[in-house]
Formats: sequence, structure tokens, C-alpha cells
Amino acid sequence: MTRSDSFDSTEEAIEAAVLSWFDETWDPDLGLLEWRGHLVDSGWAVPSWSEQWFGQSLPAWADRVAHQAIRRAGGVAMPLGGGMGLAAPTMYDHASDALKTNYLRKTLTGELTWCQLFSEPGAGSDLAGLQATAVLDGDEWVVNGQKVWNTSADHADMAILVARSDWDAPKHAGLTYFVLDMRQPGVEARPIRQMNDHASFNEVFLTDARIPKENVVGEVGAGWKVARGTLAHERAYSTNRSIDFAPAATGRVVREAKAEAAEYNKTYVWYPQRQGRLDLVIDRARSTGTSADPIVRQEIAKVISLHRSAEWTAGRAKAARDLGRPPGSEGSIGKLALSEVARQCNRVHTLISGASGMLSDTGDPVDTVVAEVLLSTPAQSIAGGTDEIQRNILGENVLGLPKEPAPDRGRPFREVGR
Ligand SMILES: Cc1cc2nc3c(=O)[nH]c(=O)nc-3n(C[C@H](O)[C@H](O)[C@H](O)COP(=O)(O)OP(=O)(O)OC[C@H]3O[C@@H](n4cnc5c(N)ncnc54)[C@H](O)[C@@H]3O)c2cc1C
Repeated sequence: MTRSDSFDSTEEAIEAAVLSWFDETWDPDLGLLEWRGHLVDSGWAVPSWSEQWFGQSLPAWADRVAHQAIRRAGGVAMPLGGGMGLAAPTMYDHASDALKTNYLRKTLTGELTWCQLFSEPGAGSDLAGLQATAVLDGDEWVVNGQKVWNTSADHADMAILVARSDWDAPKHAGLTYFVLDMRQPGVEARPIRQMNDHASFNEVFLTDARIPKENVVGEVGAGWKVARGTLAHERAYSTNRSIDFAPAATGRVVREAKAEAAEYNKTYVWYPQRQGRLDLVIDRARSTGTSADPIVRQEIAKVISLHRSAEWTAGRAKAARDLGRPPGSEGSIGKLALSEVARQCNRVHTLISGASGMLSDTGDPVDTVVAEVLLSTPAQSIAGGTDEIQRNILGENVLGLPKEPAPDRGRPFREVGR
């Protein structure tokens, strides 16, 4: 019998079961890690996972129901970040039992933080063309190369890394997926200053960085398949970057969780601006007197309609995820819609603010935010796969258009290379 056999798999039944466990167990004076340890052991941290790995084999939507119930009751659920969003689900899907034993629990409790070392100077959209190289030396892999645009790499404990382990295999077949300890001498992360003056991502230099043989995720040479799994999880994770605390939530656990979230948000403080800050548009138009201008009104109506339809698409994607369905075309359509909303917000803010939108120090705090919006929205159509790549995916997978020519397919990467 599984733990979930003791109640029906309905939202109400799951919420009641979580709250019953929570009422018995919650102790606001515990430390955050100790509390999350109890949560993980209870099966309510990731109820959709199997019993062997901290879950209860419940449907995918049970995770959200459990976390919301705990937060509403004044408690603390899971940490934010690439650990929960990318590393943990990828390891759960593909890693050996030994790797899961070493890393899953510490990732779920938030003890370990993670970053993603995928992109390289010559391999972003064409990720499978990456050249960072891993060579087996006895019981360890030795990695050399350069990664770039790696969010949080300057302070993460661990990384998920894709590197080329076989230059004689075809492009996609020579890659291996690793778990890398960032805190070692062969790893140097240098923050990159962005045009909006934040520095949330880095270039990372790997010089004889060492990885134990057991830290391969999936099979050697099958890293592309595992990386695609991470990218699918990334689409869901990229819309989930905040934690709500109930007003009544107090105590040591809550204090430590708030400090953890505040630390995490330092990196992502400009992310709302990158989405365009639609919430500011109407008040801003009214306060500047531009709300009577027919062109401004028309552009505002356009962005609101775009946003509304993007929300419906996101709702469809979420419903499909909750049902445990593999990511479909909604992911690409939703990502494109968010880029369009961000671009249109940029256009509307520019119409409303005029030249003062370029100033970050007018004495009006909203001007500062608008200036940051104008410099941050381009990131929306790049991160997590550019607009052009989403259109390629839709063209090929949904519309059935011919695939892009791939002259390098099937030939040893060493021959086709860069
Ligand atoms: C905010 C942010 C956070 C990021 N965080 C991370 C991270 O944590 N870890 C990580 O590894 N990476 C990260 N990235 C990198 C991101 O994944 C890449 O920037 C993205 O995949 C695009 O790659 P690129 O920058 O090399 O651009 P390129 O691939 O060089 O693309 C340049 C231009 O060419 C177009 N293009 C390329 N190929 C095609 C094609 N086949 N058809 C049509 N047009 C094409 C693109 O659409 C784009 O307009 C982050 C990026 C951003 C903006």
C-alpha cells in the first residue's frame, strides 16, 4: 500500500491530508533546514514523486496543492531557484540511485543551491554545438572550456553541466550531462555587468575542473536527451519566481525562509521589469495626462488584450502540466506571447514617458522603474530559447514545415566543429 492509498486523489482530500500532517508537525521555532527535512520525510515536499524518492506517487498537480496549503496555513514549503526548478526534477528523471541519494534531499531542503552551465560563447540557440570538453581520467572527469550567461553561478554550490565527452561522435551524441561542484579551484565565475546595470549572470571558466565518475546524469554520451528534459522543466520554472508568506506566518522557520527568499531575489530583482510592468501602465498614463491620447489608448488596449490571451495560454500549459502531460506547443506559444507583451509594454511606456523614460534619476521612483523596463525587456525574448527558436519549434513540430538544413548531422563533431 502506498501512503496515498489512505485518501482519494482529489484536491480537497489532498489538502485535508496535508493540513492534518502540518497541524501535527509544524513548529515555528525549528531551523529552516530541520523543518524542510520533516517536510521531505513526510512525502509532502514532492508528493508527485515516487515513494522511494520522498513522494507519494500522486498526480503532478498535488505538488502545487500541497505547497499552497502549507503556505496558507502559515508554514514554509519549498525553496525557490534552479535547484527545485531544474536540477532536482532532472536528477529525479534521469540520475542513478547513488546520485539521487547524494543530492536530492539536500536540494529539496535548500541546503544546496544550483546554477545551469549550458550556454557557451558559440553555443546558445545551437546548444548541441557546445565545446567544453570532459575527459575521463581514472575515476574522475576533467573538464575544460568556457560557459556564459550562467545565472547565479557566482554564488551557487553546485551546477548542472553539459560537456562534450566524445569529439568523434556526431554533434548530439557526444555530449554528457554532469553534476559539478562549483566550489573547487578549477571553476572561476566572473559576473557580467548588463545594460540595465544588474549583474545576474556570469561567464564561467573551467580549467581542469574535476567531477567524480558517479556524477554523470543518465548515460555517458546521452547528455542531449537529459538536457532536453531540463529545458522542458525550465519553461515551467521560469514563471515561478516568488513565494507568498501568509500574513500570520511567524517564527524562526519563517524568518529564515524570508531571508532565503530575499537573498534569492537579489539576483532576480529586475525580472518583473523584464516582463514589461504592465501593472504600471494605466496609472502612469493617467498621471501624465496621456490617457486621453487616442494613440496611447489604442496601444494600451492592445497590450492588455495580448496579456489576457497570454494568460489563457499559460493557463492551458499549466493545466496540461498538472495532468502530468509532456510539454506541448503551449510552452513555445506562451513564451512567444510573453515576449510580445514585454515588447508592447516597452512601446507603451515609451509613448507615455517620452524622453524621460531614458532617465533613471529624475526624483520620481516610477521613472527609475520605467527606465529599467526599457533596458530589461529584450532579455525576455532571449532567455530560455529565443523567439526565433520558438518559431522554428512551432514551424517544425506543429505546422509540419520542413526541418532546418543540418549539414553537420551524422558526421563526427571533430570534422564539422564550429
Ligand atoms: C536573462 C538570461 C538568463 C540566462 N541564464 C542562463 C543560465 O543560467 N544558464 C545558461 O546556460 N544560459 C543562460 N542564458 C543564455 C540563454 O540560454 C541564451 O542566451 C539563449 O539560448 C540564446 O543563445 P545566444 O545568446 O548564444 O544567442 P544566439 O544563439 O547566438 O542567437 C543570436 C540570434 O540569432 C538567432 N538565431 C540563432 N539560431 C537561429 C536559427 N536556427 N534560426 C533563426 N534564428 C536563429 C537568435 O534567435 C538570436 O536572435 C540566459 C540568458 C538570459 C537572457
